[in-house]
Parts: sequence; C-alpha cells; structure tokens
Amino acid sequence: MAEATRRFTSEPRKLLIGGQWRESVSGKTFETFDPATGAVLATVAEGDKQDVDLAVAAARRALDGPWSKLNPSERGRIVHRIGDLIMEHADELAELETLDNGKPKAVAAAADVPLAADLFWYMSGWATKLNGGTISPSVPYMPGAEFHAYTLREPVGVVGQIIPWNFPLLMAAWKLGPALTTGCTVVLKPAEQTPLSALRLAELIQEAGVPDGVVNVIPGFGETAGAALAQHPDVDKVAFTGSTEVGKLIAQQATGNLKRVSLELGGKSPNIVFSDADVDAAIAGAAQGIFFNQGEVCSAGSRLYVQEDQFDRVVEGISNAAASIRVGHGLDPNTEMGPLVSQEQFDRVTRYLSIGEQEGNRVTAGGSAIDGDGWFVQPTVLVDATADSTIVREEVFGPVIAALPFSDVDDLARQANDSAYGLAAGVWTRDISKAHKLAKRIKAGTVHVNSYHVFSAELPFGGYKQSGWGREMGEEVLNNYMETKSVIVGL
Ligand code: ADP
Repeated sequence: MAEATRRFTSEPRKLLIGGQWRESVSGKTFETFDPATGAVLATVAEGDKQDVDLAVAAARRALDGPWSKLNPSERGRIVHRIGDLIMEHADELAELETLDNGKPKAVAAAADVPLAADLFWYMSGWATKLNGGTISPSVPYMPGAEFHAYTLREPVGVVGQIIPWNFPLLMAAWKLGPALTTGCTVVLKPAEQTPLSALRLAELIQEAGVPDGVVNVIPGFGETAGAALAQHPDVDKVAFTGSTEVGKLIAQQATGNLKRVSLELGGKSPNIVFSDADVDAAIAGAAQGIFFNQGEVCSAGSRLYVQEDQFDRVVEGISNAAASIRVGHGLDPNTEMGPLVSQEQFDRVTRYLSIGEQEGNRVTAGGSAIDGDGWFVQPTVLVDATADSTIVREEVFGPVIAALPFSDVDDLARQANDSAYGLAAGVWTRDISKAHKLAKRIKAGTVHVNSYHVFSAELPFGGYKQSGWGREMGEEVLNNYMETKSVIVGL
C-alpha cells in the first residue's frame, strides 16, 4: 500500500457538510473491507437522516452563495481543475479503488481514473454553452400582438445523488460533473461498500476551489441515508445509479415533492455474433463484454447470441478465454480479474450459479466460487439455457455469461429484445447494412457494432425500459440538471 493510501485509510473518514469534515450526528461508524482478503480497510462515519438534513440545508444555502456569483467561465475552469487534480492523484485513486472495490489496479488506472478526469474536462466546456434560444411566438388568440421571447436555462437546484459500488470514483464523476457544470449543489451518497474514493475526490473538489456547501458527501447505508435523501422535501432532484429494484423505490420515494428523477439501472444486455463476423474479434469482444470489472457492470454483455453454424466455435473460444483469466488480488500486477465487491454480492452470484445448475444449464468454463479468503468466483460460461432460464432473464452482476444459438435476423431481434431491460447491446458482423438495421431495431440505449464497453464522456448512456430514466453523460445529461424558463416580452 502506498503512503498516501495508508494515510487515507488509517484515520476514520468523516462526512463532508458545508465544507466541514465531521462525525455523524449519531456518532456511528461503519467499516469497509478489502474484498480480496475480507480484512477491514477503513472506518467511515455513518450518515443518517439527521446528517442528510444538515447536508441538504448546507446545499440549499450554497445554491445562492458565491457559487451562483461565478460566471460560467469561472465555474467551468473549476470543474476542469477537478479533472486535473484527479490525474495528479491518479495512482493514489487507482489504488484506493482497488482496495475498496477489488478491481485490478491496472484496470482502475487505465479506465476508471482517466474516465473520471475526462468527464470533468468534457463537462467543463459546457459551462459556457448552456444557452437558451430566442423565439418569436405565434399567439392565435391575440391577433396583431407582437412578442419577443427567450428561454433561460437554470440549475435545477439541490441535487441528491446516490451511487453504486462497481465504479465508485467514475460514478461520482458522472454525477458530480454535470451537476457542478450547470451550477447545482449536491448531496452525494456513495455506496456503503465503497465510500473511499468519493471521499478522496471530495477533498480534491475542495482543493479545486468549489465553494463550501456546494458538494456535500454523506457515506451511509441505502435504507437510511439513501432513503432520507430520496425522500427529502427540500431536494429538487435525485439522480440514482444502481439496481432496478432500488431504482423503483427511489422513484416512489421521490414523489412526495415530485422531485425530478433520473435513474441508471440494471441490464441484461445481448452480445450478438453473426456467422459473417470476424469471429476471433467477436470472441475477444464477448469475453471482455462480460468479464471486464468482474462482470459487475450494468451494461455487461451477459446474453451471448451466436448464429448456429458458429455456435460451437464461439463457445469454445470464450470458454478458453474465461479459463485463462488470471484471478487474484487487484494490487498484483498480473491480476486480470479481482474478487466480487462483498459477501452479499458473492452470495448473489453463487446463488445464480446454483440456479443455473438446477435449471440444467451446462458449464463450459468456471462454474464455482474459488476457495480461500476473499470473494472470488470463476469466470463462467453456460450453455443449454433457454429464453426462460433465470440466467437469461435476470441480472447476475457477475462474471457469468449464457450463450444461446439463433437462426436468422428476425429470430435474433426477437430474442434480443425479449427482456425487461434495455441498456446496451453488441453486434458482431461484417455486413454494415445488417449492423445498422439491427442497431435501429434493438431497444437499448447503447448499441456497439464490432466493439463493446466503449465509454466516453461524449456519449449519452442510459436505458430503455426498466434500465432507467434519462441519460448520463454527453450533452444530454445536462437536461437532467436544468430547468428551462420561457420569458415573454410584449412589444
Ligand atoms: P446493490 O444491490 O448492487 O448493492 P443497490 O441498488 O442496492 O445496488 O445500491 C446502489 C446504491 O443505492 C447504494 O448507494 C445504496 O446504498 C443505495 N440504496 C440501496 N437501497 C436504497 C434505498 N432503499 N433507498 C435509497 N438508496 C438505496
């Protein structure tokens, strides 16, 4: 462990409210664990409703404070500086992410950290471009009257943000970047499994010059701190990333004051291989699509559809890929896959493996937990599943893929869309016409062609159907954080 990480994890971490780091009102704390060993990593103040109340009040005060007096260019430069500071502390953040979440440090260093920085850099440019429009309205019941009208785009106000544990730093960035760019103030609740990188990011946000109270961070549990935030009558908007099950609760909790809601939820994404694809590339893409980040990715390609005559070859290829993945502690430079994040997640994934066995799915790679310390499971490939198999219908959120054969495009499109979810998809083919036609037919927020897991701050990301409401990233996410006001002047 590097010195900076030791410093950060050796002291109990606190809540950030109104620019002050403090204990929780109750004085309670909780522990986070290194999922590769099960050992306690750090102690963290446990926020609850009373802390959320204080944080929301601080965010409300900050909304009309110095933050609102900055011009857009000044605000944008502060947001940009957050990205710079993330890269200045890239190694420390990657290590913290690995210790708290389990993912390989090489992955955190190559993906999570630079993507988080880039999100702030990308968003910062929008700060000076949040323009409304000018409109000459036609008003049929006022003949001859003339108007000049324009729209203003204003911050939605105090935002509650609840994020998951699979990309702790990056999810904080996805949420905070657009909120800060649009001039909102925030109460962020990181996941109880992985609060550390968000707390370190909050220190960097202070260092970047974000005024006190603009970003408040309340680590704590979902049913207490999370629910208090989603229900809070003085929160104008809640943004959530997590399971579809909890997303539905958030939507209900938000109805009290009809706060705005954006939800980025689960998936059961199809990755589709046609016979005319570059099959070796498709095999590698399908393996990366499910095994990246231990399969703990909402857009993981967890249903692999392969055209019949290539089915055996692709199953063999991805099974070999699964068997060759080096699983271990994320700080070991040779590790390609780390442990699952928690005992709960380990129980969930191993339960799905048992269900698969009971339902007659056949294992062609992996299939079980790995003995010893830590929450490790084997990268797993299953066949002999049907459209009704649990493994094909439900989100496992682990390194488990089910491979199914298909005959033609119509058969495939029907199977691909036969899901409650609609987050992502992959299509592997050399036929560009087929690829584009299918991209249109698939009901998903992201369709990759001859690629998978391409994330960029510039690309909107989110779901159809029960995969969510609204989009993260790109220009589109800004709409989640702004109100549009029409101003009409009679001439
Ligand atoms: P998982 O089940 O994979 O842990 P969740 O959807 O439960 O994912 O968690 C995502 C985030 O939602 C976490 O920050 C968690 O604390 C929070 N959360 C969980 N339950 C609730 C709830 N009832 N109300 C508000 N937030 C919640």
